Amino acid sequence: MNDKPNSIEARDIAYHLHPYTNAKKHLEAGPLVIDRGEGIYVFDNNGKRYIEAMAGLWSVGVGFNEERLVNAATEQMKRLPYYHTFTHKSHGPVIELAEKLVGMAPVPMSKAFFTNSGSEAIDTALKLIWYRANALGQPERKKIIVRNRAYHGVTIAAACLTSLPANHRSFDLIVPDVLRMTCPHHWREALPGESEEDFATRLAKELEDTILAEGPETIAAFFGEPVQGAGGVVVPPATYWQKVQAVLRKYDILLVADEVICGFGRTGTMFGSTTYGIEPDIMVMSKQLSSSYLPASALMMNDRVFGPIMEESDRIGTLGHGYTASGHPVAAAVALENLKIIEERDLVGNAAAMGRRLRDGLDALTDHPLVGEVRGVGLIAAVELVTDREARTALETPGALGALVNAHLQEAGLISRAMTDAIAFCPPLIITEGEIDELLSLFRI
Ligand code: PLP
Repeated sequence: MNDKPNSIEARDIAYHLHPYTNAKKHLEAGPLVIDRGEGIYVFDNNGKRYIEAMAGLWSVGVGFNEERLVNAATEQMKRLPYYHTFTHKSHGPVIELAEKLVGMAPVPMSKAFFTNSGSEAIDTALKLIWYRANALGQPERKKIIVRNRAYHGVTIAAACLTSLPANHRSFDLIVPDVLRMTCPHHWREALPGESEEDFATRLAKELEDTILAEGPETIAAFFGEPVQGAGGVVVPPATYWQKVQAVLRKYDILLVADEVICGFGRTGTMFGSTTYGIEPDIMVMSKQLSSSYLPASALMMNDRVFGPIMEESDRIGTLGHGYTASGHPVAAAVALENLKIIEERDLVGNAAAMGRRLRDGLDALTDHPLVGEVRGVGLIAAVELVTDREARTALETPGALGALVNAHLQEAGLISRAMTDAIAFCPPLIITEGEIDELLSLFRI
């Protein structure tokens, strides 16, 4: 690190509090300053090149220098840089994007609502679910079911749904009634000898038992990522989603698919819901919606959700929710162009094909003494590191091995992400065969 008093690194240390960073250690370690991007690569301020094997934060589908998105933003900036969508106001890009998303949905959806981050979209989903319950005359129907190791964001409500310790500890969240189910990670949670199907059956039973114990009439919704991302790239066991859905339907509980990572090609089909046959009532999306060139997020809801919300807003006089930048025209224009690129270049097909290549390369490491499990679907994968393969444990301090390997990979020019002791890969959807091989050869060092 450049520790000259006025270096860019020193100024970062002096003035910038980083999210998801040990603030004290940062005073010593300093930042990695990224200066520019090109395709799947980013370059630091010393010109060193890295494969961005996490697409930033699981988000830059089209790569780091897509001129068409720059042009879409510029054109829209010149025409109408900002307008809002409150009180019946609208504009072309937001209308087009709403129509586009509803058209792309894997199950019939009625309306799209726009927000700016995944957390805001999750908060909005939660608020609309409660609003709907009141509209239906079911004020007791407010509890939410999530799974351990879920990640749904960090605003107060979203953080309550997130089920990772660091997002709760010392924050004094005002936790609404949230019920947490077992994480559907077969390798970690299954009983000895239990098949994926039997594990899924057991989790569906746990869900049903919980619903019955709490009273079905008190449960509003189940939130789930089709593949849990930040919790460690947890791919659900075979038959899991079918069994969970059957239970939710039986008790008339809404299903919210958090597609913030899975949406727009990541799992090798357009949505995680498509990959797993999920039929959500609400879909939450962000990240690859705009390839994160600008903040954008949205949720879609079906008629079952929209109908009562419409009636309640009429009774009250307005839907008292929304953000200054809901459906921001520049973000909407960028999202539209981004979706066009994903479709025109068949980046979803590419994710499926390149995902297989990535997976084959990672699977070849299964016998390595430090590899406990390789998992993934489409172009999202993780390698669980262990020091004791029998006990499925790593070093004494959880996460220490993951952090060590991750730092080594960064040094070697590969940006991955350690989630406890799992190393995640989630490269841009545009990645080529040669680039997958380059990624793998850096990982194998
Ligand atoms: N939901 C999922 C599945 C996510 O992975 C994330 C972020 O990583 C969020 C919600 C929150 O999104 P944001 O960081 O934009 O608030």
